[in-house]
Amino acid sequence: MGTGRPVTMSWRRRSLLAAAMSTAALSACRPAPSAAPAASVQLQGGWVGASHARGHRLRESKSGALPAVAVQRRARVLVLGAGVAGLAAARAWRQAGVDDVQVLELEDSPGGNARGHRLGGMACPLGAHYLPLPVAESREVAQWLFELGLLRHESGRTVPDPRHLCHSPQERLFIDGQWVDGSLPPAAPGSATLAQYRLFGERVAALSAPVAGGRRFALPAHRAVPDAQTVALDRQTFASWLAAEGLDDRRLLWYLDYACRDDYGAGLDTVSAWAGLHYFASRHGFHATGDEADDADAVFTWPEGNGWLTARLAAPLQERLHGGRTVLRVAEGRHGVDVVAWDEATSRLEGWTADTVICALPLFVAARLFDPAPPALREAAAALRYAPWLVANLHIDAPLLERQGVAPAWDNVIYGSAGLGYVDAMHQSLRAVPGATVLTAYHALPMADRGDLLKRPWTDWAERVLQDLDTVHPDLRQRLQRIEMMRYGHAMAVPVPGLQDRAALQALRAMRGRVRFAHADLAGYSVFEEAFVAGCESAAPRR
Ligand SMILES: Cc1cc2nc3c(=O)[nH]c(=O)nc-3n(C[C@H](O)[C@H](O)[C@H](O)COP(=O)(O)OP(=O)(O)OC[C@H]3O[C@@H](n4cnc5c(N)ncnc54)[C@H](O)[C@@H]3O)c2cc1C
Repeated sequence: MGTGRPVTMSWRRRSLLAAAMSTAALSACRPAPSAAPAASVQLQGGWVGASHARGHRLRESKSGALPAVAVQRRARVLVLGAGVAGLAAARAWRQAGVDDVQVLELEDSPGGNARGHRLGGMACPLGAHYLPLPVAESREVAQWLFELGLLRHESGRTVPDPRHLCHSPQERLFIDGQWVDGSLPPAAPGSATLAQYRLFGERVAALSAPVAGGRRFALPAHRAVPDAQTVALDRQTFASWLAAEGLDDRRLLWYLDYACRDDYGAGLDTVSAWAGLHYFASRHGFHATGDEADDADAVFTWPEGNGWLTARLAAPLQERLHGGRTVLRVAEGRHGVDVVAWDEATSRLEGWTADTVICALPLFVAARLFDPAPPALREAAAALRYAPWLVANLHIDAPLLERQGVAPAWDNVIYGSAGLGYVDAMHQSLRAVPGATVLTAYHALPMADRGDLLKRPWTDWAERVLQDLDTVHPDLRQRLQRIEMMRYGHAMAVPVPGLQDRAALQALRAMRGRVRFAHADLAGYSVFEEAFVAGCESAAPRR
């Protein structure tokens, strides 16, 4: 699971790279690992996260009348869902002076797709695991990072706290029998591949250039200035745009497909050209290996991934955060909004009435709560396609034998693999000698796999994860202590063609009545900045 950007080196990383290189030299001296898979050992582990029965309670409750509410409560603002958007919404309303903000969340702990986990005594991610340095339009994110001390002003510049930036080496790719630096496949000087890398980089640079009133690609996306070109890009797949541009190099296409699967949960045949280009153009461009690039591709990361961030968003809520509450109904009345939730701990229904409700839930869930759902919500939910994901945390008791090439990085990607690679939870630790760790492997799955993700035993999925990694780590099974996996049936909205143009999504974002919506789904794709800004905007005054 990569940050998906070609590697660039800052002074900070270069100095650390020297140390990493000596480890690489050492590892090259170790005996080559045996290619034969280890004798089969019974796997220890299982699924983590709330049982799917909770989510499905909503479906079941639709078919019959609900029992009587056992307890009735009131709130000025009630936020449904404690993902990044819900937590940011709660923070924004409290900053706006509303103290009585209560949050209902289906899982026992907050964070949504950006939750942390612990395995073998070590923190590790369950989902989202990095945050790039914010771009200009993500001003709410930047402001919060300043509050947290992750950013500071120094001689008129914005400077990140290097302790929270991903340490070097950030990424490596296994290709042609060895590990190489960065996630972009290497291209020889003068090769056709390098020429295509440069051509793609030029296309991205042209689209990134400022236009009257802002940029064509911004993050969050609704702060961009769309034009005929971006509208046309949204109407076709990325694959068809690349073909029309004559961009057909195998390595470039693999890399772009990987980047789309990594950020959007689906490949370049499925996502729009707008989305494929937005990935680079909204942030820091695309730079071919060896080309000039700055330090802007640095990312913040923590052992528990973005769980570090969501824990800090959730902390001030204390008893206002109600975990284990599955929201089943929302109905707007004359004097407020009525919400019914199932309390998993007491197995009884809780009724809430609030002046304002922030629906910070995936839109396909939100659409099932209302009877009838507002037309814009029905339309938006019907237009969204969700990618299922599998996240596997593998506790290993010692470092793995190394293949040829550069030293282990935070993010380790395998060329041509169906998976997205793995990140190392102990990468940010300052321990002198590598030891036990947790590797977090990511798989964005085809939509057709959703049923199997629910039905097939966890051991089948663990086997799939291990087989993907066997090619680079034949000794992994010997070192493996335990594997714990999180399955997301509807992990993220896939930015298919036509979504940016959807009036329904824009209408939901603009709603400023008693019921408001805040979720990454409003953008038609899912990243931290979209979710956070949607949460903040939910507290904007009524028009
Ligand atoms: C595996 C994975 C890796 C990712 N990696 C990154 C990354 O590295 N960087 C990045 O920027 N983004 C990443 N993302 C995208 C990530 O989804 C967003 O960054 C962000 O976390 C989305 O937040 P959200 O609040 O919009 O949605 P969600 O996280 O979906 O939050 C919705 C919340 O609503 C709750 N809920 C659902 N139904 C109900 C109900 N009926 N009642 C009560 N509560 C309910 C859910 O449990 C959840 O907590 C990743 C996503 C996944 C799935």
